[in-house]
Amino acid sequence: MAAPYVEQDVSAVSQMISALEAARKDKRHGGFSCKKTTFKIKSSRDGIEVDSWRMQDWDYKKKGLPTYARGLFTTKTSRNVPEIAVRGYDKFFNVNEVNETKWDVVLKNTKGPYELTLKENGCIIFVAGLEDDTLLVCSKHSTGDRSDVELSHARAGEIRLEKQLAAVGKTKEDLARELRSRNITAVAELCDDSFEEHILAYENDKAGLYLHGINLNLPEFATYPSNLVQEFADQWGFIKTDLLVMEDVNEVKTFLEDVAKTGSYSGRDVEGFVIRCKMSRNHTALPYQDWFFKFKFEEPYLMYRQWRECTKAMISGKQPKFKKHIKITEEYLTYAKKQLVANPNLSKLYNQNHGIIKLRDDFLAYKNIKGSDAANLDLLDRVVMSEVTKDVILAPIATIGCGKTTLALALKHLFGWGHIQNDNISGKGRPPRFVKALMDELKEHPVVYADRNNAQRHERKQLIGDVKAQNVEARIVCLNFRHDEETIDEIRRITQDRVIERGDNHQTIHAATDKDKYLDVMEGFIKRFEECNPNSPPDAGFDLVIDLDPTAGSRVNLETLVNELHLSLPNVLKEVPSPEKLDEAMEYALSYTPDFKHTIPDRGGKKDAKQGQRQQQQAQPKKKGLEYMSVRVGTDQIDRVLDKAFKGVGPEISRFFWQLKNTRRVQRQFHVTLMHKATAAQYPELWKRYTELHDAAGGGDAIMGGCDVLLERVVFDDRIMAIVVRLFDEENKWECVNKVAHITVGTRDPAVKPKESNDLLSKWLEVGAGNEGIQEVVFADKPTLKGQVKGVTYR
Ligand code: GDP
Ligand code: MG
Repeated sequence: MAAPYVEQDVSAVSQMISALEAARKDKRHGGFSCKKTTFKIKSSRDGIEVDSWRMQDWDYKKKGLPTYARGLFTTKTSRNVPEIAVRGYDKFFNVNEVNETKWDVVLKNTKGPYELTLKENGCIIFVAGLEDDTLLVCSKHSTGDRSDVELSHARAGEIRLEKQLAAVGKTKEDLARELRSRNITAVAELCDDSFEEHILAYENDKAGLYLHGINLNLPEFATYPSNLVQEFADQWGFIKTDLLVMEDVNEVKTFLEDVAKTGSYSGRDVEGFVIRCKMSRNHTALPYQDWFFKFKFEEPYLMYRQWRECTKAMISGKQPKFKKHIKITEEYLTYAKKQLVANPNLSKLYNQNHGIIKLRDDFLAYKNIKGSDAANLDLLDRVVMSEVTKDVILAPIATIGCGKTTLALALKHLFGWGHIQNDNISGKGRPPRFVKALMDELKEHPVVYADRNNAQRHERKQLIGDVKAQNVEARIVCLNFRHDEETIDEIRRITQDRVIERGDNHQTIHAATDKDKYLDVMEGFIKRFEECNPNSPPDAGFDLVIDLDPTAGSRVNLETLVNELHLSLPNVLKEVPSPEKLDEAMEYALSYTPDFKHTIPDRGGKKDAKQGQRQQQQAQPKKKGLEYMSVRVGTDQIDRVLDKAFKGVGPEISRFFWQLKNTRRVQRQFHVTLMHKATAAQYPELWKRYTELHDAAGGGDAIMGGCDVLLERVVFDDRIMAIVVRLFDEENKWECVNKVAHITVGTRDPAVKPKESNDLLSKWLEVGAGNEGIQEVVFADKPTLKGQVKGVTYR
């Protein structure tokens, strides 16, 4: 196979550089910031200078950047022509870190071959050739040419390189010329414990420069296939990076998830894999490009990192902080302390990143346990309170939109437990009254959910203190919605999306009016958030801490919570409900329409209390009137039918469906509207009948009956998608006033309202599919679902 070769295009390169310059000068330009550092290359005969361009990690998530290269150096030739001197990979992300690396998106947008390389664990080194045959060796943002006293990464890389070239009888100039003639940058990982020790061990013959990629020096990303990278490594004395090739993306996924279970691959602890493949965001319109993503393993790697950080804390006389692997980490630290006391030199070396692995391995050997098993010991650390049968309080630590209320509603639905919402308490002295309400609720229920954010320690202190003062027997379980540094941006995005969505999806409530203010309130909670530390007060006062992940979705959190409660409080939660029951409870909880103005912070003070009262009044008018009548059908069932239908058709037809999915514009719940209040004047008799039936059923969202829903076909244009249905009930009780009974699947953006399905379907009746941009997919099996007839009310 011939190596790909593309010359630099001067105008493309200068355009890229001007865009970067503009961003550097104007921080807001294009919404990203960029830093330039100029280095004079000491070893260059002609005194060549290179500019390093550096953007912030998170800026790479933005659209429309001049380049996505992470690690980029430019220069000018002797004829004053701008050129790219060094080009790193396009910044790539971990699975689930960004939309494009979500598995379902990866499955859809990428194609093989998938080349998996071990995520080597050192520092990245770029090697390229300058015009005067100088070999440029640099790290991500530095050439190592500053008069730093310490040995820089780049310099350490260069020394390694000199050794390896000598071993194959070549010179640095040879390599420089070769790289330049191919217009490429060699990308390698310097793994060498004698220089700097990372988490994984590289000694003796394992140490060196691992060549893992060769990039063309172009603004857009183009990289050599791995077989050519390996060939080049052989020729120039690099160590080859292990490589696995798979054709099928499902095989890739299964493989990674399998290895992740142990964090070790062919007998060696690894940090993760980088997966190289081709990706197109739209197969029909855009070509496939080189694209990478990564899959980082959790354990035992994370435990090792925790040990390393704790050891360093201990050495500098600080209290080690850790949340996971508590027991084994405590044991490790006791062991480490002994070693460090016995050998004072060890501390000094450890701080310079030496001896980290040995200390860890010595401990594991002493315990006679493997790293992966040690990381699994947590399961044995479990607190089991079999004696407890009642007086359990579930108290979240969270921020707005994490799904606290959703979980509470699901639990209430499943087990009939109590639920006290802080939002429903207004006026003076809310904290003690909140606790009082909890204690009252415990008289009726074995478990009560204390629905409040408790984002700050003082709130937890108040809650735990006041509860235990009134009932020492009460057990307080912390539902810790973790806000880790790595996930905080994602949490922000998800919770804001949810809250905005909850506002805009309503047909009558427009959260948009107060949106900015509300987002500020949300941000305030995130800013003030103080993480749970079960090892010290006040959080040590929790009887049990269950970690939840706000980014995982409420269904996942519900399952985690239910499983954990069952294991730790077996006589409170005696049996874990079936997945179907959990689905159903989640559906119920998500269909609850909480009101938007409610969750204003509970931060005490007169002003807030007053505000609270005002909101209270605003939020709860006397009666909730019927807004519309609906037949609710199961989310999962509809999802399955749609997935199946669109998997069976070509990309041209399925494009809009995937667009809706990827932009999270598919409804979370599906219903057929029988009749909306807006048409009451047109059908006064029917509306009267429906409101009476609704009242008779108790109002709210009580189930008023059943109705079979036959799914016939899905119809859509580029704005909206709806399923055409037929309704069957024995008594012919449920009449639909719409011309075509339907379920709206989703709309392109919030500006397109669900009720526009009526317009779409009118047009469809008139002109038929295949005309005026209207398309359809007829369901092969025309499934019939059991629907629940419900009135929908808004406050
Ligand atoms: P709280 O502020 O922590 O009580 O959050 P809520 O439980 O009220 O959830 C905020 C909004 O997000 C509500 O509209 C929920 O229906 C919605 N929501 C909760 N969990 C999920 C989920 O897993 N997925 C989606 N898409 N929405 C959710
Ligand atoms: Mg809530």
